[in-house]
Amino acid sequence: MINLELPKKIEDTRSLLRRFSRDGLRPLSRKYDLLEQKEMPQELYELSKLLGMGGNRPAAKAEAAAKGENINGGNLSMVVASAELCWGDVGLFLALPSIGLGNAAVSAVATPEQKAEWGDLFAAMAITEPGAGSDSAAIRTTAVLDGDDYVLNGTKIFVTDGYRSKQVVVWASLDLAMGKAAIKSFLVPKGTPGMTVTRVEHKLGIRSSDTAQIVLENCRVPKANLLGNPEIAKTADARKKAFGGVMQTFDNTRPMVAAQAVGLARAALDLTLELLQAKGIELDFAKGYHQMSALENDLYELEAEYETARLLVLKAAWMADNGQPNSKNASMSKAKAGRMGNQVALKCVEICGQLGYSKAHLLEKFARDSKIIDIYEGTQQIQQLIVARQVLGKSSSELK
Ligand SMILES: Cc1cc2nc3c(=O)[nH]c(=O)nc-3n(C[C@H](O)[C@H](O)[C@H](O)COP(=O)(O)OP(=O)(O)OC[C@H]3O[C@@H](n4cnc5c(N)ncnc54)[C@H](O)[C@@H]3O)c2cc1C
Repeated sequence: MINLELPKKIEDTRSLLRRFSRDGLRPLSRKYDLLEQKEMPQELYELSKLLGMGGNRPAAKAEAAAKGENINGGNLSMVVASAELCWGDVGLFLALPSIGLGNAAVSAVATPEQKAEWGDLFAAMAITEPGAGSDSAAIRTTAVLDGDDYVLNGTKIFVTDGYRSKQVVVWASLDLAMGKAAIKSFLVPKGTPGMTVTRVEHKLGIRSSDTAQIVLENCRVPKANLLGNPEIAKTADARKKAFGGVMQTFDNTRPMVAAQAVGLARAALDLTLELLQAKGIELDFAKGYHQMSALENDLYELEAEYETARLLVLKAAWMADNGQPNSKNASMSKAKAGRMGNQVALKCVEICGQLGYSKAHLLEKFARDSKIIDIYEGTQQIQQLIVARQVLGKSSSELK
């Protein structure tokens, strides 16, 4: 039997986070959207401590797999949590120190000594460069071994939390001639000489989070700050697998980004229903199709789009928890939810007319915040390309 209800433990956390979003994040939404300041909203430090967001649970996963059981683990919990927090505010969610996009990459491989040395993690993730966006294998930042250090050189752009974070996970190549297999990630603590934040962007949406350009000029980090295996695979086959492994981390993170759109769309729909009700507009979803108003029909469609995306996200996360290959599902969930978030938020603005467009309410902000979810962590077009490759059984060189 298929049961699409959330497990009780996750449902309990969800309703707790809804309260956190409603009482902790929402009251700050407009203030920090308007301020678009570089500095961290002070309230977020305290709020972040309350959260204690968990990661994957590899041991529990292995144990359950050995018994042939399903587990509802870290990925499912995280997508539900991300959606709830983004129901509150996507920009503030991204600014929470415990959410740092590089945190998971570091936690997965850091030794206890490194964890103690680096302290509380608030790690940004710096992949994108002026000449490398969708094609992350095209990065030109280099890391050269010199004695006991790696020396990093290059420019990273559009780094979420790049200004406020305490550490930056930098993607760099050990040898540009070796192609994507030579790409490794390095933990660079803020304050390391040679790493400079050179610009903070002004943006359409998610204005309460910072997005920065970072320049690395002869920036030295200890050898041990290379996260993962320092070897460059020797054979062509092993090299292909090595970068495939790097890309597979996106199979966990894409459903989480997709979940941001699910939370935002729910927020837009909830606010729309609230505003309509306050205007005395009664909606009756029990009516038959032939009696339904255009408004009721629109809202039905939006709810259906929302639910489709939500279920795709839950499935992709559940597959990751249970060790099932989920590249196709992760990309489907990201493409669908990214698109749905834009459509739902804009349509809600349209439905509510002046109230939707005015800064008196948050609908116009939801619409502005929604676009980035369709772009970062791989654009909608790139997700569709990945799905097409999986469906047609083509490699990335066969279908570009
Ligand atoms: C606010 C914000 C925050 C960000 N945060 C981070 C971050 O924390 N870390 C980080 O590393 N990066 C971050 N990014 C960068 C983001 O991941 C990239 O913008 C994204 O990957 C797209 O790259 P690009 O902008 O260079 O676009 P391009 O790759 O130049 O693409 C331009 C357009 O062409 C389309 N396109 C490209 N290739 C293909 C193809 N083969 N087939 C079909 N269509 C294609 C794309 O879908 C897009 O519509 C952020 C960006 C923004 C705007």
